[in-house]
Amino acid sequence: MTNFHILTLFPDMVLRGLRESIIGRAETAGHISIEALNIRDYTLDKHKKVDDYPYGGGAGMLMQAQPIYDAWLEVERRIAKRREKEGRPDERRNRVIYVTPQGRTFHQEMARDFAREEDLIFLCGHYEGVDERVLETVVTDCVSIGDYVLTGGELPAMVMVDAIARMVPGVLTNQASGETESFYDNLLEYPQYTRPEVWREKAVPQILLSGDHAKVDAWRLQMAEKRTKERRPDLYAKYEQDHPASEKKKKVRDR
Ligand code: SAM
Repeated sequence: MTNFHILTLFPDMVLRGLRESIIGRAETAGHISIEALNIRDYTLDKHKKVDDYPYGGGAGMLMQAQPIYDAWLEVERRIAKRREKEGRPDERRNRVIYVTPQGRTFHQEMARDFAREEDLIFLCGHYEGVDERVLETVVTDCVSIGDYVLTGGELPAMVMVDAIARMVPGVLTNQASGETESFYDNLLEYPQYTRPEVWREKAVPQILLSGDHAKVDAWRLQMAEKRTKERRPDLYAKYEQDHPASEKKKKVRDR
């Protein structure tokens, strides 16, 4: 089970987006939990302000340290209380992910790694960013979803929560599907087809109708390799490194 705690100025946006479909059902079934805290609720400013001008000048506003720090403290308090109630107080530091274009680029292996955590705290920035001092104080991981700049951290946090939640045991009804889809073993997934057998004169590859599972597996591996080589040569190079030619042949024979 992984508990996601999201610190944001837009909790409704995050919760509405995540409580749909597979992730929503996973929460209802108790495989994950998702809470979103509104950073604005923790500001000590009487006008509920959470941002101010950057020292030294420059464009835009920055999120201030105090409301973020107090929202983070509240999440830590809740986690500690829950663990104590369950009779297992724990001093471990919880991971706090600041979603930022300045972080390491998110990928599937990271999603698997984060999915092993019991609690994950996300910090969503807004405006021009966040006062560096609070980042230095609470953040353990800086993660980006790609080399472009968005207006806020809500979409990146949703992307990451979705990808991580899928890796939590029980969330995918068919756990095996996490092990055949794209990025597993540095390959993209093979092409897939469903009914009807012929659509606009395009027929499903015959081999998939053969009922011969060994042949189907071999064909799928071949297609996955071909597709990865064409579309993601960078990924294919890693795959080749891990699977020298002789080993690949053996893998096909063994299937
Ligand atoms: N001025 C910041 C910079 O140049 O690094 C960008 C701030 S951005 C307009 C506002 C917030 O959106 C960031 O604090 C971050 O939380 C989020 N954000 C924007 N792009 C992102 C990305 N590619 N990955 C993750 N978070 C992103």
